[in-house]
Amino acid sequence: MTICSVCQFENDDFAVTCKNCKGFLQNRIPNLDLFETTWGVIESPRAAFRKIAIAEHKNFVLLLFGLFGIGLSFTALWQFELGDRFSTLLDLIVFAIVSGPGVGVLVSVFLGIAYHVLAKIVGGKASFRTSVGAFAYSLTPILISIFLVLPIELMTFGIYMFTLNPHPYVLKPLSYTLLIGFDSLVTVWAIVLLVVGTAVVHSLRWWKALLVVLLFLALVWGAIELATQNVPRYL
Ligand SMILES: [Zn+2]
Repeated sequence: MTICSVCQFENDDFAVTCKNCKGFLQNRIPNLDLFETTWGVIESPRAAFRKIAIAEHKNFVLLLFGLFGIGLSFTALWQFELGDRFSTLLDLIVFAIVSGPGVGVLVSVFLGIAYHVLAKIVGGKASFRTSVGAFAYSLTPILISIFLVLPIELMTFGIYMFTLNPHPYVLKPLSYTLLIGFDSLVTVWAIVLLVVGTAVVHSLRWWKALLVVLLFLALVWGAIELATQNVPRYL
């Protein structure tokens, strides 16, 4: 809650002008800068999520979702071991980069809606746009790993990153364990950021934010289980 210094009216945490007297409560943030915000989420997440909540435009959300989609495409090709459907690694990379962004935006919009509804159920205060913004910028560690870890995986294993026979683990157990370990780490990091982001933008206590994220992950896990059981049959 922000109390207006002029009229003492109690405003929302992230209100820029006082609802009662229209006086300024804090600086306007019209736009988000991509590099400043993603870096901020890594360096000082609470301040960065505050900025995301205050910003009038939640810029670059679609770009973040598109990049996330490319990561999802590569992950699905790895999860379902679909490498042998492609004649070369380049074909697989082109497929993931072309199919990824559309899928990413579609999946993320559904995830954003689910996340927002869960946050609202436990008393979250943020608007839908702020929810989606916080969710998108929480993905930052995963997006960084697409630029840093994925190229190393592709250079180390080539198409065998995505094949069942031989499985990449059999080829280079240590490299595989390290790289997959790193991927798991960035995923956990993104989840922690979503908890912090939820607490900040929704003005929730940390355990309520954690509850929202755990319920959200349970939903995502259920959806992945369904997909894992059904998708390979249609391919
Ligand atoms: Zn006022």
